[in-house]
Amino acid sequence: MTSDPATLDLGSRLTRAQDLARQQGVDAVLVSPGADLRYLTGYDAKPLERLTCLVLTAAGDPVLVVPALEQPAALASPVGASGVSVVAWQETEDPYALVGSLLPAAAAQGTVALDNHMWAEKVLALAAALPRARQVLATPVIGELRMRKTDDEVDALRQAGRAIDRVHSRMGEWLRPGRTEREVGRDIADAIVAEGHVTADFVIVGSGPNGSSPHHELSDRVIERGDPVVVDIGGSLESGYCSDCTRTYVAGGEPPADFAAYYAVLQRAQAEQCEFVRPGVTAQELDAVGRDVITAAGYGEAFLHRTGHGIGLETHEEPYIVYGNHLPLEPGMAFSVEPGIYLAGRHGARIEDIVVCGDDGAERMNHAPRDLVVLEG
Ligand code: ZN
Ligand code: ZN
Repeated sequence: MTSDPATLDLGSRLTRAQDLARQQGVDAVLVSPGADLRYLTGYDAKPLERLTCLVLTAAGDPVLVVPALEQPAALASPVGASGVSVVAWQETEDPYALVGSLLPAAAAQGTVALDNHMWAEKVLALAAALPRARQVLATPVIGELRMRKTDDEVDALRQAGRAIDRVHSRMGEWLRPGRTEREVGRDIADAIVAEGHVTADFVIVGSGPNGSSPHHELSDRVIERGDPVVVDIGGSLESGYCSDCTRTYVAGGEPPADFAAYYAVLQRAQAEQCEFVRPGVTAQELDAVGRDVITAAGYGEAFLHRTGHGIGLETHEEPYIVYGNHLPLEPGMAFSVEPGIYLAGRHGARIEDIVVCGDDGAERMNHAPRDLVVLEG
C-alpha cells in the first residue's frame, strides 16, 4: 500500500500527535470520522450517528472504538495493519461510556481535545460521559501536523493538480455560447472523475453576471457570446488528496473591454503572489502583495475575499492566506493563490493555482495557461 500517500508513516503521525498533545497539555485526543481520522489512521470512515472514535492518549497506545457492524470495514482499512487496536461496541452498549473507560483518570479529569468536525451530538454526549474533563479543539495538535505536507503528500497534490489541469485543458469541448451553466457543469463533473478523481467535489461555472458572485455554483443561465466565465473546479483522488483550480474563460467572441483590462491586473497580481512565496513570508504579507496590485489599479473594493486556503485531505484547511494571519510560511505548506476581481451584476474573474512552499520558492501544482483563453464555439 506504499503507493497510497494516505497510508504512509501512520505510526509516526500518531507519535507526533502524541508529542504535540503532551507539549500543549492535552491529555487525550478524540477523533471522529473525517479528514483528521483519515490522516492519523488511514481509515476513511463513514460519518454516522453511531460513534466511531480514535482515542489517543498522551502516553498510551491508540485505540479505535467502532460500532460492531463497522469493524470489518475498519480492519480492512490501513488501521488493520497499523497496530492500532480496534474495540467494537454492540448495539445496546453505550459507546461514550466505553470511550470514557479507555481514558486514564488524569485524562478523564483533564483536557480532552476533539476534532473540529465532530458532530455536536457527539461532543455533548462525550461531555456527559466525561463530566470532569475540559473539552478543547484538537486543531492545534492535528492541524499543526496536517499543515506541513510530507514529500508523499506533495506528490499526491501534484497528481491532483495534473488531473484537474487535464479537465481545464478540455474546457473547449463543453463551454460555449448557447449552453446553460448546468449543462456545462454536468460535463465538467463527469470529466473530473474521468480524468482521475474518485469524486467531483464542486463545480462552479459563473457566466457573465454570475461570475461576479465568487461562490456561485451552477444555474440555468444560457451562456452568451463574449461572456467571461469563471470556472472553479475540484475533486478528490483515491488517496484522499484534493484538487482545486480556477480559470476564467471567454465564451467565443470579444469580452467586454473593461473585463480585458482588469483581467490583466488580476493576472499580474496572481503571478506576483506566486513569486513572493518563500519560507518566512507570513500569510498576511502574501495576501497583501496581490491586494496591493489590485488596489493600485483601482479594483481594491472588487477583490472580495482572502487570497487562499490550505489544501490536502480537505479542500479548505489551514493555513488560510488572509489579513490578520501572521503565520510564517514553511516548506511543505500547501495552499491556493486565488485573487479575484468581481464587478457586481456585470462579470468577474479569478485565477487559482495550488502552490507548495519550497525551500526557496513556490512549486505550482497547476500549469493550465493563465492568459485569457477565448474558447471559440
Ligand atoms: Zn477553487
Ligand atoms: Zn480554492
